[in-house]
Amino acid sequence: MVGEQRICLGDRINKMYLEKQNIADKSHLIEQWANVALKLKQKHGDASFNNWMKTLDPETIEAGCVIMTVSTRFLKEWILSHYLKDLNSFWKEENNSINNIEIKVRKNNDQSYSDNSGNLEGNISNNITVLNRAANEIDNNSTFSGTRFDPRFTFDNFVVGTSNRLAQAVAKNLAEENNVTVKSNPLFIYGGVGLGKTHLMQAIGQHIQKNNIGKKILYMSAEKFMYRFVRALRDKDIVNFKEYFRSVDMLMIDDIQFICGKGSTQEEFFHTFNELVDNNKQLVITADRSPSDLKDLDKKIQSRLGGGLVIDINNADYDLRLGILKAKMEILMKKDHKLNPVPDSVLEFVARKITSNIRELEGALHKIITDSLLMKREVTIESTKIVLSDLIRANEHVLTLDDIKKNVAEYYNINIADINSARKLRKIARPRQVAMYLAKKLTKESLMEIGSKFGGKDHATVVYSNRQIEKLCESNEQLRKDVQLLINRLSSI
Ligand code: ADP
Ligand code: MG
Repeated sequence: MVGEQRICLGDRINKMYLEKQNIADKSHLIEQWANVALKLKQKHGDASFNNWMKTLDPETIEAGCVIMTVSTRFLKEWILSHYLKDLNSFWKEENNSINNIEIKVRKNNDQSYSDNSGNLEGNISNNITVLNRAANEIDNNSTFSGTRFDPRFTFDNFVVGTSNRLAQAVAKNLAEENNVTVKSNPLFIYGGVGLGKTHLMQAIGQHIQKNNIGKKILYMSAEKFMYRFVRALRDKDIVNFKEYFRSVDMLMIDDIQFICGKGSTQEEFFHTFNELVDNNKQLVITADRSPSDLKDLDKKIQSRLGGGLVIDINNADYDLRLGILKAKMEILMKKDHKLNPVPDSVLEFVARKITSNIRELEGALHKIITDSLLMKREVTIESTKIVLSDLIRANEHVLTLDDIKKNVAEYYNINIADINSARKLRKIARPRQVAMYLAKKLTKESLMEIGSKFGGKDHATVVYSNRQIEKLCESNEQLRKDVQLLINRLSSI
């Protein structure tokens, strides 16, 4: 009897131990998934993640295969055909033992996997559920109609610098005037990833929403537009879909490049677009490149997109990067009075080192702060070098002569071949001299090397060009500005 009881107790302890082990494993798995999810968000953007991958949930790892579940078959297929490669490589980065991924459709959508009622296990399980939610709902702000605005993305929180001044002014003007004119419809904002397009677009929307109650503003990513369109087709609900999109006062579509090459979605977008513009409703569009560079987009859509106001956001220069870091620090300290400020010297160091984009810059600041809180250590340049070592390495870019030629050619709208040529036409000779000047100023190449790589010129030509530009910059303000802009641009690549 006693023996039996002992066995029962032993079993229970064993069972509890195994459960605890399972929970610990699961907790570890979910932490890894949180990191994978973050990378997916960084690469594909919040909207894509929310549209397609938000319901992914890691279940277990078996023989090097991570098994994940998702809420519908449709999502499963979409993920497999669009994101499998990244899922694979990001999981592998987190956990080297993983070499395969399997996605299953969940039978029911109850994601809490644990029903055990033990105290300790219960606590752990609660934590896991929280973590689980964090991984899956990193930004669960979708509504049925569109995507809700992020309250941080306002004009007040948008720091202005050389690279985004025009875009900010135009956006603010549109938001404040709230008056649709042919000239600014659509407003098309483009620029590289993480430079503030979504922020600016949402700032317009939030401003108008706040000051014009009742205005119907619809904001969503192009990816979500496509998803809703595909769903409407599948559910034979296309009439409602059309009606819905045509009933808004302002339509904001983020990352329009996503629908390039997607035939029927493009067409549908085009019809929606035309009807809204014809009815004097404002459209705001963003993309990672200019309308004319959206190569897979139907020509007629391209031309309509470029038919309003087209504005670009460039890479942030050092001053803007530092300004943003200081502003973010202030916001963080307002939220948490106990937080120690990161010293200015460290912010300056980060602004110098993290040049890729503002999303990474923000990420770097959060990393430094988290590290100092966790490790309970003071933030110094030395500790920052360690914490950000990967990021700093990834941001290191040795400027090449080709970078300079390419940027100068683009800036002056000439060909790289012209820069290498001996043509004396002022329109070409001046940019060539600027390029040589920048090559001497910004790279470690010798005068001989610069000359020879600029189409076989001698070093005296480089010296002459250099003197010429220096002298001209003293009297020619436009040239001075051009050179400064190019230096800013080149120092941020
Ligand atoms: P994009 O849409 O161009 O990829 P986002 O608008 O998502 O970039 O910006 C990435 C991050 O950088 C966001 O957190 C955003 O708030 C921040 N950010 C970008 N530009 C600025 C700026 N000028 N001032 C403050 N924060 C900015
Ligand atoms: Mg964006």
